[in-house]
Amino acid sequence: MDIALSDELRAFQAEVRSFLEDNLTPEFREASRLCTTIVAEHEATMAWQRILYRQGWAAPNWPVEHGGTGWDPMRRYLFAAEYARAGALRLVPQGLSMVAHAIMGHGSAEQKAFYLPRILSGEDVWCQGYSEPGSGSDLASLQCRAVADGDDYIINGSKIWTTSAHYADRMFCLVRTKTMGKPQAGITFLLLEMDTPGLTVEPIHILGGDHEFNQVFFEDVRVPQANRLGAENEGWTVAKYLLEFERGGDARAARQRTRLDEARRLASARRRSDGRSLLEEPGFAADLAALEIELTTVEFTEMRTMAEIAKRGSPGPASSMLKTRSTEVQMAISELAMRAIGYYAAPHQPEERLAGANLEPLGQRDEMSITARYLNDRAGSIYGGSNEIQRNIMAKLVLGM
Ligand SMILES: Cc1cc2nc3c(=O)[nH]c(=O)nc-3n(C[C@H](O)[C@H](O)[C@H](O)COP(=O)(O)OP(=O)(O)OC[C@H]3O[C@@H](n4cnc5c(N)ncnc54)[C@H](O)[C@@H]3O)c2cc1C
Repeated sequence: MDIALSDELRAFQAEVRSFLEDNLTPEFREASRLCTTIVAEHEATMAWQRILYRQGWAAPNWPVEHGGTGWDPMRRYLFAAEYARAGALRLVPQGLSMVAHAIMGHGSAEQKAFYLPRILSGEDVWCQGYSEPGSGSDLASLQCRAVADGDDYIINGSKIWTTSAHYADRMFCLVRTKTMGKPQAGITFLLLEMDTPGLTVEPIHILGGDHEFNQVFFEDVRVPQANRLGAENEGWTVAKYLLEFERGGDARAARQRTRLDEARRLASARRRSDGRSLLEEPGFAADLAALEIELTTVEFTEMRTMAEIAKRGSPGPASSMLKTRSTEVQMAISELAMRAIGYYAAPHQPEERLAGANLEPLGQRDEMSITARYLNDRAGSIYGGSNEIQRNIMAKLVLGM
């Protein structure tokens, strides 16, 4: 098999690399390095999105007619790899990588024309209102109620674990519009504005100390019926279509490769009392090598998923396999990084992790995020649908069990 890049692809790779070198300022790199959750500090993330937007690269996976790059899977892969290697900030995924695809696949011409350009430019930041206090894995049991009233719906209920709701402009939301019959057949998909009267956002702090997600309360929140995506009571189809992109439409392996390289660097920098590096310790070296192999399998699964997207337009059930394996590998990498810094994983020093902090940390500055990242990465097997649920999906849709 010839895996050498053609001259054309090498030129593309060089163009991406030089753009990232020129535009990723030390401030952007620092914000990315200190990031312990899905996205880094909000202002920096949005400023970076504006730069990518001006370059025409904010949405590598979108079709050209909506402002995407039109790149083939190989170019998208090379871009993602260069992006991760350079330590570029991850963009807020709920708009660009989730609801945008649902709007392209199920929205009216007016909805596409209104929402997509705003997502691309970063004018609108989105959050996802699927989970509820009593409905997570069994999402179809959701109870947040929308009752038709003239041209509007009136919503009452609550959503929970809503990532980014504290700075989002809009939410895509699943609501119950019918209580009789099969639960899946009574759900509607709505797009709403976060400053609508009656909607409130309460913070929830996660294990590593960060504020990433929230609980959202609806009290007689009025949303125009024109904001519905797809038909009334047919939101489940839209919701499932979107979830395939949440679980499979993103380039995770390249980011994980950067994290694994970081763990290796941290381990090689540490000296044991006999002066040797942790990398020379057989137990650590074996675990690192095993993880390296696991990550390579994730990379290949990702390429297979991209080929599936190119063929059928959406990732399909392979996205469940990718989500499961990549989050398991991600968790193992952050555990290895913790082992690499030894005792320095223990101090809790959240202030030192803030961008521009001038406090002297215990340990090295580049070790500051390791423990919080380890703690926050535990969520990987839960978000996007728990890994147990992904295994159920694979058993049913891939293995036909
Ligand atoms: C960091 C993070 C960010 C999130 N962001 C969002 C967001 O932005 N928007 C949003 O809507 N939601 C979000 N979620 C919620 C997430 O989608 C749910 O937590 C997830 O679907 C699991 O639901 P649950 O928490 O109610 O757990 P439960 O459904 O109560 O599950 C509890 C445990 O039981 C297991 N289990 C349940 N049913 C089965 C079954 N049938 N077979 C085998 N095992 C089963 C699960 O795997 C899990 O281990 C986020 C979650 C996290 C952790």
